[in-house]
Amino acid sequence: MKKNGFTTSILHSDRRSPIEHGAVHKPMHTASEYGYEDARELAAVFQGKAGFTYARQGTPTTTALEAKITGMEGGVSSVSFATGMAALSAIFGTLLRAGDHLVSSQFIFGNTTSLLGTMAALGVEVTFVDATDAEQVRAALRPNTRMVFVETVANPGTQVADLRGIGALCKQHNLVYVIDNTLTSPWMFRGIDVGAALVMNSLSKYIGGHGHALGGSVTDTGLYDWSGYAAIHDAYKKGPPTGWGLLQIKKKGLRDMGGTLAAEPAHRIAVGAETLALRMRQHCNNALALARFLQGHDGVSKVYYPGLEGHPQHERAKDLFGGRYGALMGVELVDGIDCFEFLNRLEVVILATHLGDTRTLALPAAHTIYYEMGPARRAQMGIADSFLRISVGIEDEADLLGDFDQALHACLKA
Ligand SMILES: *Cc1c(COP(=O)(O)O)cnc(C)c1O
Repeated sequence: MKKNGFTTSILHSDRRSPIEHGAVHKPMHTASEYGYEDARELAAVFQGKAGFTYARQGTPTTTALEAKITGMEGGVSSVSFATGMAALSAIFGTLLRAGDHLVSSQFIFGNTTSLLGTMAALGVEVTFVDATDAEQVRAALRPNTRMVFVETVANPGTQVADLRGIGALCKQHNLVYVIDNTLTSPWMFRGIDVGAALVMNSLSKYIGGHGHALGGSVTDTGLYDWSGYAAIHDAYKKGPPTGWGLLQIKKKGLRDMGGTLAAEPAHRIAVGAETLALRMRQHCNNALALARFLQGHDGVSKVYYPGLEGHPQHERAKDLFGGRYGALMGVELVDGIDCFEFLNRLEVVILATHLGDTRTLALPAAHTIYYEMGPARRAQMGIADSFLRISVGIEDEADLLGDFDQALHACLKA
């Protein structure tokens, strides 16, 4: 059978098995528990047969969403979680033990930095490096290094990790390569293409896309052989060793830690995912237009966006993401303009945290989402006090550019 394209595959994924009453859209299953006619069948499902028992470990609704994500990422299977942070907690918390070493990019989401601090307090050794250079990752490796973690395009500094170089390095040293694909989404980039073992997505962002539901996922690319990985419990050494890691993440992350995605948000995210490709095109086009416009504006001193030729990893981004550059950018204004004053003059743009919404959102990063980490860590991540994070939405381009222009002019005149 001919392999369908990106959007067709998502739209028709549910129909691979029959839907009740011939419904065209998959219904939402909100039951907490699942009953069986035969006690042996119930026991079999507890012992590993595919099926449902208690909703903490998944429902037909989360399974349907997971199938869509697996398809988008070109992976083998996926597990969904209540949030992106629950997905990351499950990866680090179930696969790393005290005494293991993790190498992480220093350019990562603030809450992930904080989570890795929690892991360090539990005895996991964590080293932060500049992951735009695979050699820095190599230099940080130790005999007890188990895992390397990077974001594709860093939130919010937009640094682009050396995704291919790090993939080759992880393969050479048999390390678990984990990529947070949130800012690019599987429409722009797939971790499997650079050798990732696990790909994490915050479904709250582009995949859901509408700002009405939180969720996270981990996709197993099937590339990593877990047979030599010490932290896998005997109970999860079932089936091919390439699947052991995700089984442990699912069992411990959902059943033990309980970070389960409920049916209602899972359903909303699945509906949102159907338009991922349509939305991403508009997000990316708007962002590139806005970045170019701001770069040439009198009121702006610096724009951080991988689509601009002056961005340090522009060529790499072009190669990795097929000529699309995402929709997150950083902006610094000229000295005379107070960034709070500027933000308050925006009319279309909403002053709010979050990214990947259909609406354009902006906030002063150092004073909000990166406030808690303090100035030294912010400097390491390349976030100046005046850094504005902008998540570009899908509004009409002229309205967006016009809004930034009017706010900048008003500030320049003041
Ligand atoms: C938002 C985000 C997360 C966390 O996702 P939530 O769904 O908000 O928990 C993780 N990584 C990146 C890059 C993000 O932008």
